[in-house]
Amino acid sequence: MTFDLVTIFPTMVTQALDTGIVGRAIARGLLDVTVHDLRAFTSDRHRVVDDVPYGGGPGMVMKPEPLLRAIAAIERARGDLWVILTTPQGERFTQDVARELGKRPHVAILCGRYEGVDERVRREVDQEISIGDYVVSGGELPALVIVDAVARLVPGVVGDEQSVADESFNRGLLDFPQYTRPPVLQDVSGRKRHSDDGARVPEVLLSGHHAAIRRWRKREAVARTLARRPELLAGATLDDEEQACLRELIGERASHESVAARGQENDVAKRDEEDSVTRRDEGENNGSH
Ligand code: SAH
Repeated sequence: MTFDLVTIFPTMVTQALDTGIVGRAIARGLLDVTVHDLRAFTSDRHRVVDDVPYGGGPGMVMKPEPLLRAIAAIERARGDLWVILTTPQGERFTQDVARELGKRPHVAILCGRYEGVDERVRREVDQEISIGDYVVSGGELPALVIVDAVARLVPGVVGDEQSVADESFNRGLLDFPQYTRPPVLQDVSGRKRHSDDGARVPEVLLSGHHAAIRRWRKREAVARTLARRPELLAGATLDDEEQACLRELIGERASHESVAARGQENDVAKRDEEDSVTRRDEGENNGSH
């Protein structure tokens, strides 16, 4: 699979692409990523890529011609191209979007800067992608996020295939918690902790009992997803064991809730009683003034 990134800051992305899993994938030829300096597609002596906005207002806008020339040049070199514009106004980037992109042989990503790109560039763009509901200063970090997430899904890029299959979002489940040594963590920072529990690695992970560990991990993954991102469960593909966990956890939660609700009812009854006492007191006080 090939990626072509178009940016005015090539060094900002080349360095990141040399590193870690993506760097190794490129070195091994599993992924072909080329970074293009947008200024190479200008035609004036000063290699200008931006201009003032029509209608006035602050900031600059990226000129359309260099971007469109870049797309044309990349398509000539690669063949049929899928062109992405990074923009906070685009479709939200998710694991599903990454998976779809992974099926495209040639993807080009345009990195905006300043106030964004001239609106007419969109006419030659196949997909507009946002990495989230916030604004960063340029499309370089978003482009790196996209390349990295898609690269992980290319067969062979992540060493242990199982680790991609189990990862958060791939099946609509968050990943289970991970621990490494030591088995009991001593206080090394002296900082305030959010909780005093959890210094000890869960016993089951030390047991060497593989079936029990597998069950514990499944249950934790389901429990975490239910607690943190319950909306993911609607689209999740769960095996029988996971479904059983989910039913059990929902059952437990319902019984906790009904206990809590009963507790609340008692609280409310108590508060009503207290209120009426207070009101009586106030009444007496008022009456005495
Ligand atoms: N004025 C624009 C934002 C410009 S930010 C607006 O409000 O829509 C400059 C560039 O950063 C954008 O052109 C885009 O390429 C990139 N960018 C900023 N935030 C982004 C996000 N959440 N997702 C993808 N790209 C983003």
